[in-house]
Amino acid sequence: MILGNDPILLTPGPLTTSLATKQAMLRDWGSWDAAFNRITGTVCRDLVEIVHGGDEYVCVPLQGSGTFAVEAAIGNLVPRAGKVLVPNNGAYCARIVRICRYLGRAVVDLPIAEDRPVTAAAVAAALAADPAITHVALVHCETGAGLLNDLDGVARVCRAQGKGLIVDAMSSFAALPIDVRQAPLEALVAASGKCLEGVPGMGFVIARREALLASEGNAHSLAMDLHDQYVYMQRTTQWRFTPPTHVVAALRAAIDQFLAEGGQPARGARYAANCAALLEGMRALGFRPLLTPEVQAPIIVTFHAPAHPAYAFRDFYDRVRARGYILYPGKLTQVETFRVGCIGAIDANEMRNVVAAIGATLRDMGIERAA
Ligand SMILES: *Cc1c(COP(=O)(O)O)cnc(C)c1O
Repeated sequence: MILGNDPILLTPGPLTTSLATKQAMLRDWGSWDAAFNRITGTVCRDLVEIVHGGDEYVCVPLQGSGTFAVEAAIGNLVPRAGKVLVPNNGAYCARIVRICRYLGRAVVDLPIAEDRPVTAAAVAAALAADPAITHVALVHCETGAGLLNDLDGVARVCRAQGKGLIVDAMSSFAALPIDVRQAPLEALVAASGKCLEGVPGMGFVIARREALLASEGNAHSLAMDLHDQYVYMQRTTQWRFTPPTHVVAALRAAIDQFLAEGGQPARGARYAANCAALLEGMRALGFRPLLTPEVQAPIIVTFHAPAHPAYAFRDFYDRVRARGYILYPGKLTQVETFRVGCIGAIDANEMRNVVAAIGATLRDMGIERAA
């Protein structure tokens, strides 16, 4: 992979992108131009295919970061009188709870420990306790801790009980298997700048066509109206408002590389190898991961901070940064941690290099072992 000389981003987005993806942005596109709108069309078609959506699902792209698309999905697919269950085991689940409150949608916040997965049984019990719930909003990979929730199990419960399922698959889409034929859902949300290895700036909602068409009039906001965006795009092939043209062009290039690599299985395998190399190297330095292997997604790993008086995250971060790697602070409420991403246009060799940089940093700081 040809990357250039920028520091390597080991964060949950933006990510390190390939040179080919960056080069795809060296061109200006007109929003009315048929050549640009054909790119949007093929991007949307390919995104639906990644989750095996066939003709039943459609993709609605939306300007903005991933959260904009999550907010749009909730605001469109949950009717104003609806009620959303949010099984909550981390920061991104908590964000959905806040979104529901901003949008005036009734919400049930179901707390689950940050290091435990959302299970089908927990969702079934919450649904049984409150028949007024109409929708479940699940975060597939909770990037806060790096934990994988049971999408297939929760989808089965939702189908059996006739509840709509909305999935934040932001950090899992294109890397972990998602098959809407097995896990039927009303909508799934992801973005350009995560495991597709595009640049940030475009979210998208893959929705069951019927559910999207039935959502007319639900949206609280013109800019966030997915139904309007979809209908307009179907009619004109254009975006309603100024499209993020460079982002879309870069995403086209990123998807081409994704398909050439071998699609989701290959991308998932590369990230799994990255994650294994990271865990092995960090263990040797004395670092402990927060999660047990059964719930650790190969996307981002949370490590306990070294219990040493010389350790401070800011200093540690700056020193690792000077060696060419950008880490990420922890996002947990209880324990002091930091995170290292396994995603982006990087391979296991890069992960061994970052472990070496972290080891050298510890020595510089006078910390013999992280444990
Ligand atoms: C990255 C991410 C988002 C979106 O965050 P933005 O900062 O708006 O891009 C949402 N959910 C999850 C699980 C994520 O990892």
